[in-house]
Amino acid sequence: MPKYISFKNGNLEFMDQNGVKRSAPEFLNKGAKNYRFDLESNILEKKCIQCHSYFVTQKLEGDQFFDIHDEDEIHYISTSSGYHGRCKKCLNEHPAEVGQTQYDLTDGSNEYQLSAEANKYIFQVAIEKGLTKEDSLESIVLLVKKHNPVIYTEKIK
Ligand SMILES: [Zn+2]
Repeated sequence: MPKYISFKNGNLEFMDQNGVKRSAPEFLNKGAKNYRFDLESNILEKKCIQCHSYFVTQKLEGDQFFDIHDEDEIHYISTSSGYHGRCKKCLNEHPAEVGQTQYDLTDGSNEYQLSAEANKYIFQVAIEKGLTKEDSLESIVLLVKKHNPVIYTEKIK
């Protein structure tokens, strides 16, 4: 018998060490391949997508999974989203990294290159609301922000 069970999105059922059918937590549907279940310890582990280390997240007791993660190792987001893609160590080393792109969020300059279409829209809002173009852009961004809150605010320092 293999030590670990791996998962695929859409199929969270597996057999435990006693051959009893179990179902992994729903949040595995968001990136099932980064989780594995240790059949010997009954522990669900998550792989950091950056350093590829595995971290303890939940333990199967009876037919239920219980959270036993260490917040110093990996961040727990929610019951629907599960655990963060990167471990705490990797997040601290690359706090503002998203995918392969580096963003310097400490840069407070307003030197943005916008498309003609975006500029036109900013200008139209400026005229309609009697704002300067700068205040128009600000109001658009704040409106979008209001309706699309960024979840990982702790990453933005
Ligand atoms: Zn890591």
